[in-house]
Amino acid sequence: MSAPPGRLTLITGPSGVGKGTLVQRLLAHHPQIWLSISATTRSSRAGEVEGEHYFFLSREAFEQQVAEEGFLEWAEFAGNLYGTPRQPVEAQLAAGRPVLLEIELEGARQVRRSFAAGFQIFVEPPSFAELERRIRGRGTDSEEAIGRRLERARVELAAAPEFDAVLVNGDLDAALAELERLMGLAS
Ligand code: 5GP
Repeated sequence: MSAPPGRLTLITGPSGVGKGTLVQRLLAHHPQIWLSISATTRSSRAGEVEGEHYFFLSREAFEQQVAEEGFLEWAEFAGNLYGTPRQPVEAQLAAGRPVLLEIELEGARQVRRSFAAGFQIFVEPPSFAELERRIRGRGTDSEEAIGRRLERARVELAAAPEFDAVLVNGDLDAALAELERLMGLAS
């Protein structure tokens, strides 16, 4: 199965699987793809730019937007709220542009209900041991935070069969080529 152009494609997968890197590589090769910028209540990390990586909102502003049905989907992840602004996604799709969302599992399930025609890809690590190695390799998280992420990763990995396609992110170049194939893009 692959996605025709102008469609909504969604990528999800556990924390540490490398989906962010994969998406950035994809966009560098295919600038016609429009990546949705999410809103979040988490504080910005060093180097993150407002409106480029995220729209950083207070919890009040986020909840206001939820009440106004301004999000296509939203979910809580690791104590923070994350949501996809509805209007820009709808405008880009109406203009016939391929739209890409990179979000977590609960949000993917919501999008599946409202955009049945969307194409949903689950990114998997080559093994659980490799995922653990990558999460630990970041070297920034406490043992407790690592434990929580690994526990969450087990839940997310069990959801892989719900998706239209499963992409194993072992070798980055091979994963990118497979993503291009799934999205119907020339590499
Ligand atoms: P991070 O805080 O590391 O940037 O993101 C944490 C998780 O939130 C990641 O799995 C990311 O894919 C997910 N995420 C980012 N934006 C959204 C969004 O708009 N909606 C949902 N449901 N998840 C999101």
